[in-house]
Parts: sequence; C-alpha cells; structure tokens
Amino acid sequence: TGASNRYPTRDLQARDAAHHIHPFTDTGALNREGPRIITSADGAWLTDSDGKRYLDGMAGLWCCQVGHGRQEIADAVHRQMCELEYYNTFFKTSHPPAVALAEKLAELTPPQFNRVFFTSSGSEANDTVFRMVRAYWDKMGQPEKKTIIGRWNGYHGSTLAGTSLGGMKGMHEQGDLPVPGVHHIAQPYWFGEGGDMSEEEFGLWAARELERAIDEIGEDKVAAFIAEPIQGAGGVIIPPQSYWPEVSRICKERGILLVVDEVICGFGRLGTWFGSDYYGLEPDLMPIAKGLSSGYLPIGGVMVSDRVASVFIDQAGDFHHGFTYSGHPACCAAALANLEIMQREKLVERVADDIGPYLQAKWTGLADHPLVGEARMVGLVGALELVPAKGDRSRAFEPAGDVGTLCRDLSFDNGLVMRAVRDSMIISPPLVLTHEEADLLVERTAKTLDDTY
Ligand code: PLP
Repeated sequence: TGASNRYPTRDLQARDAAHHIHPFTDTGALNREGPRIITSADGAWLTDSDGKRYLDGMAGLWCCQVGHGRQEIADAVHRQMCELEYYNTFFKTSHPPAVALAEKLAELTPPQFNRVFFTSSGSEANDTVFRMVRAYWDKMGQPEKKTIIGRWNGYHGSTLAGTSLGGMKGMHEQGDLPVPGVHHIAQPYWFGEGGDMSEEEFGLWAARELERAIDEIGEDKVAAFIAEPIQGAGGVIIPPQSYWPEVSRICKERGILLVVDEVICGFGRLGTWFGSDYYGLEPDLMPIAKGLSSGYLPIGGVMVSDRVASVFIDQAGDFHHGFTYSGHPACCAAALANLEIMQREKLVERVADDIGPYLQAKWTGLADHPLVGEARMVGLVGALELVPAKGDRSRAFEPAGDVGTLCRDLSFDNGLVMRAVRDSMIISPPLVLTHEEADLLVERTAKTLDDTY
C-alpha cells in the first residue's frame, strides 16, 4: 500500500522476507514486522516507500559526509565506468584513478603516511592490518611478535580478523573467536565503567591496562595495539583527555605498532581530517573506509606509514595479500569526487567552526532531560546515555537495550534516524547538515525522549 505504485511497501516487504537475510538482524523478528523500505535520499534526508521523510541522523551508517544525492559523484563514476569500468592493481598494473586517489590520500593524511593499500571495506582494511602487522615483524626478524591488542567493545568489522580485533562479545560467541594471537583490554568508557575514579584518573588507568597487558604477554611477543580514536559502534565512547597521550607514550616506549582505526572518525567526522589529528596521534597504520567515498561506492584502505612501508619496499618478496577489487577504478573515482567536494565546500572546517559547535551546544542541552544521564558530542558524532536514575551512573536499565530500542523506534516515528547501542542513543549526521536541520534534529530528539519517558 505504498504512496506510489512503483514501490508497493507490503509487496517489497514480503519479497524481502522471502529472500533476504539482513546484517546484524534477528531475521525472524524482522520478517514479522517488515523492513522500512528506503527509496530515495537527498542531502540529509531519506524517503521511504510510503513517502515519509526522515532526517538521516546517522549519515547512512556513519559514512555519508557530503550528503545524499550528489550528481557530481554519480557523473564521475559514470565517466569512469565508460572509460575503464574495471581492471585490477595486481601483477604490475595500475590505473589513473587509483594513482590519483593514492596521491590525494597521501596529501590529506598525517605526514608519516605516503602510501595506501586499497580494500573494499573497513573490515577488509582490518584484515589487511592483521596480516601486514605480522608480515612487518616477520620481515624485521622478530616473527615471534604476533599478538595484537585490541579493546573490549571496540569495533573493527565483521570478517574473522575484524571480529577478532574488535571486542564485541556477542560476535565472538557466535564464531568461537577471537582467532589466536589477539588480546583485549578495558575500554576507556568512564560513564559506564569509571566507578569512583575521576575521568582523568580513569583515562590513565585504562591506558595503563595496555602496559599491564604488554608486561603479561611479554614485549617481545606483542606486535601492535589497535583502537578507534572514539569508539563508534561501541556507543560513541569519547575517551578522557588523559587517555590517548598515555597510550601513545606506551606504544612508543614499548616498541609496538599503533594502529588507529579511522573508519568512522576519519574524513572530517571530528572536525579534523582524521581522529588522529584531533588527538595528536602518530599511528603506524590507519584503516580507512566509509567517509572516504561517503558510501557512494564501497572502498576502504590502510594508510601505511613510511616506517612500515620502507620494510616492505626494502626487503624483496611479495606481500601475499589483496582483493580483486583493491583500487577498483569506479570506486576510486567516487572517492576522488567525494574528496573534491569535501575540500571545495570546506566541510571539515565547517564541522570544526560552524555546524559542529552549533549542534554540540544544543545537543548537550538534552542532558537536562530526566531520561538522560550524559549528552556528549565531538565534531558531528554524539551520544545520549539513557538512565533509569538521573545522577546515578552506577545504575543501568535491565534488561539492557530495551529502552534504547524503543527510543530508536520512536525516533523513526518522529521522522528522525537515530541508532541505539544498548541504551545509548547515537547520532552521526552528514557534514552538510544545515542549521535548520540541526534545530530539527534536536527538536525531534527531545520529542522522542519525551515519548520514551
Ligand atoms: N572499523 C570501524 C571503526 C567501523 O566502525 C567499521 C564499521 O562500522 C568497520 C571497521 C568495518 O567497516 P565495514 O563495515 O566497511 O567493513
């Protein structure tokens, strides 16, 4: 019974239920309810098959920096498809869009990065990290340095390596993971796990968990530490200020590689090109994806620092790793057109100086709502912690997640896409969000909180 015959909602839902298994979804439950069918999008707005419009508070899945419906990206992809739709970058070949994008990335990323290894996604980027880190230490004559340390509740993708490096217990349980050689430490989640410590003390404590893990495993066996600057899928967990400087010190002093997963924080999300710029980090490897193409086509990669690249360059022998679509020409063209828009429209500066501070001021005001324990935001990524007893961080809803799910569903009813991580409500809107849209986002969030309360 859709608004247009072109997209009959019930028919599409029935066919979806018959033939489609969705990611991170209880398929049986979804099939009873039927998915919302999104049929078109423009700027910060989505339209469904009934003609209802939603403010896209999640920029797709944290990726659509330049907003939906940019003709210019579609045109660039079309031109590339007509000239060279596909060729690979294996066996001593390359092509102009891969060369141009690699060069552009060297320009935009921190100075130690001059080379990229292309993938199709963030998960593949982290699989590449996994293999590259071990190959690096092997080539350095220290093959026993194999263990990679990640964090509980970190997210690095859904492949075997991505799931293993991440610290999502539910994902581990379904696959007998992590694979051997991965160790997890505490996350810097002060609101949920900081106990009686001040934020500053807790940040230092969480960072020093890395040092304790290195001591326990043995420095000669630890290869790398991997973390997101701000944990996205874990619930937009913004570490205390004391956290990253201490982690950086430990990685440098103990000679382990620092891998900063920029899949969400990269490409302007925090008001800097990369989360590493925001926190002053000097990573050795930097997985990227999402905002690289604003999601117009799937592309990711790993930025490889000169320190790591030089070992691969100086020592003979193949890196036995790669994907059919590493550096896909049309995906590179989409990314180049996307980055061209970001630079021309100064979207990163806009997040730092204009729409970021504007939305943050309004968003943090939501902390006054009786359901909200904390309202936090950096750049254009934020969270609201929903709590049963305001002012008491030690109490959480039981069972966890029901209130968050209700709030998310009500946000859809109110024409806003928010995401729930347990009982935290998340937003990560397009970087082109206007002031009027920011007002509406906060208005609809407030209404949704009232409806949930
Ligand atoms: N790393 C981080 C920090 C992510 O947030 C994600 C996805 O949300 C990934 C990696 C995986 O990326 P993809 O879903 O493109 O495989």
